[in-house]
Amino acid sequence: MDNDVIAEIKQRTPVEDVVGETVRLTRAGRNLKGLCPFHSEKTPSFVVYPKDGSYHCFGCGESGDIFAFLMKTEGLDFRASLEKLARKAGIELKPRNEQAAAEDRTRERLKEACAAAAAFYNNLYLNHPAAANARTYAEKRGLTPATIELFQIGFAPDSWDALGNYLLQRGYTSQELIDAGLVAERDEGGHYDRFRNRLLFPIRDHKGLIVGFGGRALGEGQTPKYLNSPQSPIFDKSSILYGFDLARSHIQRAGQAVIVEGYMDVVIAHQAGQSNVVGTIGTALTDRHAELLKRIARHIILCLDPDTAGDMAALKGSEVLQEHAEKIAIPIRGERGLINVERRSETEIRIMQLPPGKDPDELLLSEGGPQAWSRLRDEALPLIDHVITVVAARHDLKSAHGKSDAVAQISLFLRELGDPIQRAHYVQRVASVLHVPEEAVQEAVGRTSANRNTTGRDARRTSGPGTLPSGQSDLYTPIEPVSTPEEHLLSMVLKYPQTTWMASAPLSEDFTRLENRLIYEAVAALAVASDKTAPDAPAIRAAALESLDPALIPHFLRIASREEPELFRFVLPYELESRLLRLRQHNDRIWIQQCQLMMQEAQETGDADTIDKLKILWSRSLARFHHYDPKPSTVFRDSRD
Ligand SMILES: [Zn+2]
Repeated sequence: MDNDVIAEIKQRTPVEDVVGETVRLTRAGRNLKGLCPFHSEKTPSFVVYPKDGSYHCFGCGESGDIFAFLMKTEGLDFRASLEKLARKAGIELKPRNEQAAAEDRTRERLKEACAAAAAFYNNLYLNHPAAANARTYAEKRGLTPATIELFQIGFAPDSWDALGNYLLQRGYTSQELIDAGLVAERDEGGHYDRFRNRLLFPIRDHKGLIVGFGGRALGEGQTPKYLNSPQSPIFDKSSILYGFDLARSHIQRAGQAVIVEGYMDVVIAHQAGQSNVVGTIGTALTDRHAELLKRIARHIILCLDPDTAGDMAALKGSEVLQEHAEKIAIPIRGERGLINVERRSETEIRIMQLPPGKDPDELLLSEGGPQAWSRLRDEALPLIDHVITVVAARHDLKSAHGKSDAVAQISLFLRELGDPIQRAHYVQRVASVLHVPEEAVQEAVGRTSANRNTTGRDARRTSGPGTLPSGQSDLYTPIEPVSTPEEHLLSMVLKYPQTTWMASAPLSEDFTRLENRLIYEAVAALAVASDKTAPDAPAIRAAALESLDPALIPHFLRIASREEPELFRFVLPYELESRLLRLRQHNDRIWIQQCQLMMQEAQETGDADTIDKLKILWSRSLARFHHYDPKPSTVFRDSRD
């Protein structure tokens, strides 16, 4: 078996060194303390535990190891953080495999070609007489020289082969230029420059490497007005947000991201000091966009212009809602006119509405614009409130028909709220805004939920932890653990992938060890995709192994090789419940101990503020700890401890 590089890297890399590069740490007993990089605070509640190689923030709850820290603070994926830490530790990583390594080299080459193209276009913009039009246009739109430099904005000349010839001379092959989307293939052979007579915005990935371009037409009547790079091995607009590489640290600090549409809006926002703004690229907002932002921001604000923000009627019975039954779809100005945002997360989505007839860039460039922008951003309404306001404004609430129509539309959104308290709150609000009885709204919400197919994943929302059906729980005695609670649970998931969508399925946050979490996520995604009541477990394990980073494989094999009992289908939920409860209890126990240690320290230094904060956390964890603890069986041996 491969040696476990992850364990080796962890062993050689003190967590305080990695965290210390971003956070100023001071000693606090055996541990270290500093200001949390994930939320803004004045007194340090971010603690680093050298012994466990982990960190934990008592203010916002962020925790993890060195890999997780880099992924979060630098926006890296697991592979990239692994590579970075391996280099630091002086450990050589094996390439994933020959083919993957070759693909990596190809992609690097395409990105280099794009970087060379960006330099070429930018140089023309700055120096060439033919770019005079482009410069005039950019000035008219309010771009400053500093902004041109920051975003490396360029000019594509009105020529069929200027860029192609330049890059061929620099040693790139025709195929590479085609693959990078820089030139387009002719039917009769050969190729021509894709971007001609356009102001060019290079598009960078989250690491800041150029992967594509967006070009604004400069000629009279030239179409399309905006032309983007095509889908390519390096460019996928459904996973890239324009400006993200520059905005990331600002988003992280503010805990908030603002999404606009269009290059000019992003560029002008940054120029006006609004550096947490990113843009979608001629596409709907996707789950992957949301994923990218969710890692670093809890608040996502969509900036809508009033036309589409109010275009709720277009949604009624629309295909989009049908298609995304599990998500909330809300309208935004754009090519297809609609975007969708996943609702199943802690991330809060708000809607920011601009004054009629104003685009973001116009507003930001106007007198007092940045202040107005900040105000509108702070006044942004939660998604549901926005929906209620818009629907109420769109319907004749004096007529019975208008009322019932409005209730029906809003309830489509209300049923997506996972939290029953929030749902109750909004049911009340809708009733009072629309002047209808609460029961009527409640009934409409219930009706829409009943219409949905009730798969295991939906059931998870309504059945939280600790919901063993009474009378049955005592018939079943959990099996003794063989390892840490986390691995004990994961081992069951590997043997029975369907447990990832059972009523009490674990959440990926239940796994505190990053390796376990990544393996769980891979298996869960495959199990859901297989869409069967009893998925083919060996096939899923094989596919998971394929999709995982090779560095995770030794760990995966170790867990997959654990012995698991053959369980009858009807027993699975109980065994799952039992292992999940044990894990949550275990995590809470550690959390409670850490809280106590912190309180002791705070008492010694007389930090009353921190003591108060910790007391609240401590009592909350304690309450949860007892909540998860199922009553011991009166009949069977309790094997929990
Ligand atoms: Zn924090």
